[in-house]
Amino acid sequence: MSTPSLLILPGDGIGPEVMREVRRIIDWFGARRGLAFDVSEDLVGGAAYDAHGTPLHDDTMARAQAADAVLLGAVGGPKYDDLDFSVKPERGLLRLRKEMDLFSNLRPAQCFDALADFSSLKRDVVAGLDIMIVRELTSGVYFGEPRGIFTEGNERVGVNTQRYTESEIRRVAISAFELAMRRSRKLCSMEKANVMESGILWREVVTEVGRDYPEVELSHMYADNGAMQLVRWPRQFDVIVTDNLFGDILSDCAAMLTGSLGMLPSASLGAPMANGRPKALYEPVHGSAPDIAGQGKANPIACILSFAMALRYSFDQGAEAARLEAAIEQVLADGVRTADLMGPEGGVPVSTEGMGDAIIAALEASL
Ligand code: NAD
Repeated sequence: MSTPSLLILPGDGIGPEVMREVRRIIDWFGARRGLAFDVSEDLVGGAAYDAHGTPLHDDTMARAQAADAVLLGAVGGPKYDDLDFSVKPERGLLRLRKEMDLFSNLRPAQCFDALADFSSLKRDVVAGLDIMIVRELTSGVYFGEPRGIFTEGNERVGVNTQRYTESEIRRVAISAFELAMRRSRKLCSMEKANVMESGILWREVVTEVGRDYPEVELSHMYADNGAMQLVRWPRQFDVIVTDNLFGDILSDCAAMLTGSLGMLPSASLGAPMANGRPKALYEPVHGSAPDIAGQGKANPIACILSFAMALRYSFDQGAEAARLEAAIEQVLADGVRTADLMGPEGGVPVSTEGMGDAIIAALEASL
């Protein structure tokens, strides 16, 4: 098999800073675990606009389509606020997601024990939490037609349309069942089948797909109840699958159970390529954090955990992903803290690079 390719797009603000630490971790896996990647780097967002007058050059788009996985830092910043909408840094990211047809958005919510007190919920509710929300990303009410603001009689009316085809539901459901098979074989599907026809169809199609996965325990829940259950007793869930709108809200809600924005990775997956790997874009949930950019304060863990997701979901290296996650858990347990993780109990303050050093030392100790 040829060496798997990884395209790195650091982007703007803290993007290049956190990505520098990821590059060191990738190098460590190459040198110490024999995991070779064909790594290349390119521009996205404001950095691409500065160089080419567009937030994503066509050549970069083609390289992303050809790569086994893409890892992105963050895009945007005040310098680009007044640009025309069509060339804003975020358009580069949106183009990647759209042209790679990344319909399945994976948002883990994992609570590291050492950070349980950062949650707005009580420690005994969130400690040990490890759930995955699968959000449909390319259809639903954010894209459905008709849409717009129209005039009816003497008043305006705002219209958006929730629309899902069977095949759109089926492909994200398959992606969620496959994920459930790799985890604890428990899947909860959330919609509003009580008041929405699209929800009725969603429930029917997910149930049909479930017949191909008899090992997975499938349950259904109305999304409003799901929101309540997520804050009441989140550990009842393992994998949750839901549509674009509900997934947007529920994944943000679940993410905040775990504390800092600097800790949250994500993956967006598309259809399998010829080599069987899904098209894939991995990125931290946070943005380019212009308020701390260039100061060595950024927490690189969200970006490093995004690489761990790439190891698991693109490169079939689940054991090495677990090694990396365990190293991060160890570093946090040792009290190593970037500024965003510093709570009243204190800890060992480190820079972005210092956090990278500590994680590499913990990886070494794991051998
Ligand atoms: P943000 O996520 O960049 O920052 C929000 C707050 O969290 C800031 O106080 C920041 O310092 C802090 N923070 C974020 N990541 C951190 C990290 N790794 N370590 C420590 N602290 C961290 O969101 P924002 O301020 O609303 O947006 C800033 C820019 O980023 C905007 O231009 C926005 O459009 C863009 N943005 C990009 C993405 C993306 O690239 N996916 C996502 C969200 C926002």
